[in-house]
Amino acid sequence: MGILAGKRALIIGLANPYSIAYGIADAMHREGAQLAFSCQTEKLAERVSKLASDKFDATLCAVCDVSKDAEIQQLFARLETHWDQFDILVHSAAYAPKDQLQGDYVENTTREGFQIAHDISSYSFTALAKAARPFMAGHPSALLTLSYLGAERAVPNYNVMGLAKASLEANVRYMARSLGPERIRVNAISAGPIKTLAASGIQDLNSMLKFHEKAAPLRELTTIEQVGNAATFLCSDLAAGVTGEILHVDGGFHTIAAMGEV
Ligand code: NAD
Repeated sequence: MGILAGKRALIIGLANPYSIAYGIADAMHREGAQLAFSCQTEKLAERVSKLASDKFDATLCAVCDVSKDAEIQQLFARLETHWDQFDILVHSAAYAPKDQLQGDYVENTTREGFQIAHDISSYSFTALAKAARPFMAGHPSALLTLSYLGAERAVPNYNVMGLAKASLEANVRYMARSLGPERIRVNAISAGPIKTLAASGIQDLNSMLKFHEKAAPLRELTTIEQVGNAATFLCSDLAAGVTGEILHVDGGFHTIAAMGEV
């Protein structure tokens, strides 16, 4: 029996088979969870719902732009016709305009870019938790989001998204404190760089990947399978005592200070 047998999980942010959400769905499905999905636009919906039903036997794939409260309400109204309660919510969505993810941070960051990055990449996790609370409260359940080292260190080109991820990590701690008494745990995975659609918006991603592979203690790139397995653990009852935590799944990259001889 899998470690998520009997659990229901809503996964937000699947775009294609390279998405981190795909790695998470794959591991959760393997471990026995029943899955539902939401994706950002009608345009994505056809492809994503086919992926969700063919690969993961999902019967629900709704459209929800997480920057819009009305769409979040509609998502949960639809979910309610499907499930009376659920146990896991995965928030695997982030966005900043492309011109914010390049060059000099001070020069290039705009008020609008700052607001968009923080709204979609951090506040949306709180907004989804508000809507999910009635479905999760009172039984062991878990919320999970995805962060990156740019929250803790200044990473070239990551720029305002680093600030949004720092906000997201603080959000994890505040949400954990708020929801813990209702038996809802809240955690994040800080993943190493992975070549996905979202990551390809970051200027010079390839040098970031090359450097990571050379310098990380495990001398390898992070995979969506590694993130999926760690996510499954964090959302399972095996992690019953873990909340407010940021777990690095990055081959140990965050522990090094300088490369030295490699
Ligand atoms: P991806 O492009 O496959 O997924 C990003 C998802 O965010 C897409 O499905 C997109 O539709 C969704 N999204 C963006 N704006 C949205 C909105 N307004 N409403 C609803 N959905 C929206 O890329 P990914 O790398 O799998 O990204 C998933 C998460 O992992 C993101 O939070 C990202 O910051 C984080 N992350 C990625 C990496 C990496 O190197 N790829 C590393 C660490 C953390």
